[in-house]
Amino acid sequence: MPLAASQTPDYPPVFRGLSLVAGHPALDLVNTVKYRGADRPQDKLKSFSDLIDWALTAGIISTADSTGLSDAQNGPALLGKIRVLRESLWCLFNADQTDKKRYAQALNTIEKAISSLRYKVKIDPQTGTLRQHITVRTPNDLIARIVDSIADLLTRRESYLIKTCDGCDCDWLFVDRTKARRRRWCDTRTCGNLARSRNFRNKQKQSH
Ligand SMILES: [Zn+2]
Repeated sequence: MPLAASQTPDYPPVFRGLSLVAGHPALDLVNTVKYRGADRPQDKLKSFSDLIDWALTAGIISTADSTGLSDAQNGPALLGKIRVLRESLWCLFNADQTDKKRYAQALNTIEKAISSLRYKVKIDPQTGTLRQHITVRTPNDLIARIVDSIADLLTRRESYLIKTCDGCDCDWLFVDRTKARRRRWCDTRTCGNLARSRNFRNKQKQSH
């Protein structure tokens, strides 16, 4: 299983101007689209090479893993697969904004992808601890690592407090790990600041 982004030392990492602040790589994948519900959503995964860079930044693969991935013949098809999975995952966390048929399709898509994972299994001879691992040698393995991250998120879902940002027009998802469980913003430096300055302006207007 990959490390959650919050466990990496240089958190939050930045990909194409986006801070990976979700607290889990699979949620950061969902957040590679900004303003999903708006007229012009911004998708930061425009090519297979973007996907490799994103996976590196999110800690899903290492630099050594990425060797030889960039000359994928089927890159566009693999990126398309990840986009479908990403939107399916978005559906799972926004069931109220989607119809039942679409939700059922999303479940099915993710179940199929996770069912197709092939792990290398190793039991540590010293500790007896089971380790499941996906070795990255081909572009398909990169996709498998991302699917594995989705599997990890959904396995832990009940123990995570997953929220949608309260920011205006922002639908980013994140894990609230604050003690008070009151995190409202994907990023206090962006959505949090915007909301604060909006509140300040409103108060000024009311006082005049
Ligand atoms: Zn936000």
